[in-house]
Amino acid sequence: MMGTKGREIVGKDLDQIIESLNKALADEWLAYYQYWIGSKVARGPMSGAVAAELSEHASEELDHAEKLTKRIIQLGGTPILKPEDWYKLTNCGYDTPENPDVKVLLDQNIRGERCAIGVYNKMLEELKDVDPITYHIILEILEDEVEHEEDLENLKEDMDMMNRK
Ligand code: FE
Ligand code: FE
Ligand code: MG
Repeated sequence: MMGTKGREIVGKDLDQIIESLNKALADEWLAYYQYWIGSKVARGPMSGAVAAELSEHASEELDHAEKLTKRIIQLGGTPILKPEDWYKLTNCGYDTPENPDVKVLLDQNIRGERCAIGVYNKMLEELKDVDPITYHIILEILEDEVEHEEDLENLKEDMDMMNRK
């Protein structure tokens, strides 16, 4: 847990900040698994390139979970301790990759990234002038999510161009 002065500089919404961080943590774990398992089952044109990107994003989502957890503990909160709570707390849910078609997987994960971008952007608004450290962490995560959406959209574009030839 962080020191007294470190906690003092955080505005009065400490419990609410911890709750938002735990909700985001639930999202990150579900995103991690959706990407990770998606990278294993992906089939279709460019499935090698798609799987590589999905797998890279999986590890980045895990890194987000790491950052969120460290901050929750620093603020004196308890990070989610059991996987069943991922489903209870998630903002963005889980899209089961029942169809291994690369285009379907890409669309599912693009939806997930758009949801994440919305969630983190809203968190930034709430954290502004309240908790500069958490703000900074969320901003870093948001930068990654924006890049994730772009990467997936670019892959879809490459696929469309290939199909037109
Ligand atoms: Fe993430
Ligand atoms: Fe992401
Ligand atoms: Mg990427």
